[in-house]
Amino acid sequence: MRVESVTSEVTDTNTLLLRWPEGYSVEVKTGQFVTLFWPDTPQYKRAYSLSSCGLDRDFFEVTIKREGKMGTRMVDWAKGDDILGVLPPAGRFLPVFESNRHLVCLAGGSGVAPFRGFIREATRRQLDTRMTLLYSVRTPNDIIFRDQFLQFEQQNPNFKFKATCTRLADGDSWPGRRGRLCVEWLQEHFNDLATTVFYACGPNGFVESAEKLVLEELGVPKDQLKTEKWG
Ligand SMILES: Cc1cc2nc3c(=O)[nH]c(=O)nc-3n(C[C@H](O)[C@H](O)[C@H](O)COP(=O)(O)OP(=O)(O)OC[C@H]3O[C@@H](n4cnc5c(N)ncnc54)[C@H](O)[C@@H]3O)c2cc1C
Repeated sequence: MRVESVTSEVTDTNTLLLRWPEGYSVEVKTGQFVTLFWPDTPQYKRAYSLSSCGLDRDFFEVTIKREGKMGTRMVDWAKGDDILGVLPPAGRFLPVFESNRHLVCLAGGSGVAPFRGFIREATRRQLDTRMTLLYSVRTPNDIIFRDQFLQFEQQNPNFKFKATCTRLADGDSWPGRRGRLCVEWLQEHFNDLATTVFYACGPNGFVESAEKLVLEELGVPKDQLKTEKWG
């Protein structure tokens, strides 16, 4: 697929828009990932969550952090008109959009990518599913899609967005929460455990600590937590 545009989200993270070739059509579910490779090294393939959603036809968006071999090559070198190999969408990290559900989405760093897709779909379809995105970043400058999430909050009364910063110095100004994800912060954001479904996405370490919080400390049954981890 041709890279149609590259958007810098924060210093180390870019969104690539990949245009489907003419005649290409595929079933896409919000929350899935695609597998990318460079045509000169087809044996080296890596998965990237779609930051676009299932309603988007004719293109995919992926949001990639400059991390590791593939992440660095993608962020430093991918540019408009490059051609990338793309395997079709796959994966089961799918939102359950039901009226009586509350989706609590826990994102660490670039793990926010699929949640943009979740929120884009729910907002476009004007769904009444409640969604809360709790996003853990090092500093405010690392918040990917900040303006877009604030805009979705305006457009979608069922969506709430909160970020917590883990690496601020005492004197740094930030009106929001500081520190890592913890049980008390999670508890502030849902009322009824029975109808809440948790989603956690990001690098291994983040997702493993989110899993521990949700399953062990909150006592949520396993089938109410879905995870997507990388690293
Ligand atoms: C289902 C799935 C979805 C993914 N979606 C995304 C996505 O939307 N955006 C994205 O940037 N990456 C995503 N990744 C990670 C991506 O596939 C690559 O692993 C990443 O770009 C690093 O490239 P590499 O494997 O060649 O790195 P290598 O040179 O093999 O090094 C991997 C190193 O990078 C660390 N690492 C990998 N990715 C990250 C990250 N994003 N943040 C922090 N540490 C990381 C690992 O712990 C390890 O130390 C996803 C992975 C999976 C399995």
